[in-house]
Amino acid sequence: MVDLGFVEKCEPWRLESRFFPSKAGGKPAWLDLNNIPGKKDLECEYCGDPCVFLCQVYAPYEEDANAFHRTIYVFMCKKGDCCKPNRNGNLKVFRSQLSRSNSFYPSEPPVEREDWRTDIDVSQWTKTCRICGILAPSHCAECKVANYCCRVHQVYDWKNGHKGTCGTEKKTSNNSFLFPEHEIVMENDDRAKEHAEQDDVESEQKEIEKYNTMIDSGEAGTLQHSEDVNDDLLQMANTEDEIFAEFRTKIDDYPDQILRYDRGGKILYISPHNQVADVPKCLECNGDRQFEFQIMPQLLNFLDLKDTVNCLDWGILAILTCKKSCTPNGKYIREYVWKQDIVQEKT
Ligand SMILES: [Zn+2]
Ligand SMILES: [Zn+2]
Ligand SMILES: [Zn+2]
Ligand SMILES: [Zn+2]
Repeated sequence: MVDLGFVEKCEPWRLESRFFPSKAGGKPAWLDLNNIPGKKDLECEYCGDPCVFLCQVYAPYEEDANAFHRTIYVFMCKKGDCCKPNRNGNLKVFRSQLSRSNSFYPSEPPVEREDWRTDIDVSQWTKTCRICGILAPSHCAECKVANYCCRVHQVYDWKNGHKGTCGTEKKTSNNSFLFPEHEIVMENDDRAKEHAEQDDVESEQKEIEKYNTMIDSGEAGTLQHSEDVNDDLLQMANTEDEIFAEFRTKIDDYPDQILRYDRGGKILYISPHNQVADVPKCLECNGDRQFEFQIMPQLLNFLDLKDTVNCLDWGILAILTCKKSCTPNGKYIREYVWKQDIVQEKT
């Protein structure tokens, strides 16, 4: 069963940690509010800068009490130069999970109100970078209020406004460094699938009817004509086998989908080349990883990439996570991501 994700505009308070959101852009809404990843965990393999928050998916394991709350985080380097075809060094994925009874959240579900439990916030537990929202071990030497994950983000902030407001700022606001913030709304693909299958059967039946009519009527029942129809049927079957055609068909049902969630299911590849191979075992329990979800190229339309420096691109981003979803014991666990692009590697 595939769930599809769509982006929607949403009031920012609904996307805070206390409401267990799935979202794209903005700062990460950390689940475990302590021990959050820092610059070392998020370093881009190519340029060394911390990768920037791309999206998170709230996906509890209903059958596992230790994963009563569970969120997967995806980060990507903002530099277009680091975005190499069919390579994953500019991407990081983390998994966080909590049992129902934990140090951060009440065991009852949240009340969807802006003023509900605003004290549940990462700032109560640890310092976060005012530019990107990850762990911030250092701060501005002048005001000692603005916290940063690294020197690069401190310099960026100084040049982009903090120089003028240092010491007078009250609240950290969202900034243009981040990707625009949207809610990710998940919907079931069952109805779409049934609908598509029915369409296929109908069109196939029409072809066969057309063929039978021709033979029956005799007027068009020449060998030449029946061969044409057979070719059409054959071609239809071949096309359905082609990976990109399948990709297109699946997207055509809901062209705005930015995410496909299908834990333990199959990746919907965009090309027969550069598919996922040799997925490393879970670093925590050494168990197998499995496919959990994939981010579709449609998300690129919502990243506000007018800036030519940020020519980010991907075909799909496939996220593979520990099959057991092993208990992280207050840690964010690294998971696996594969970027498949439609361009083939030059040989
Ligand atoms: Zn980079
Ligand atoms: Zn930062
Ligand atoms: Zn300052
Ligand atoms: Zn594991």
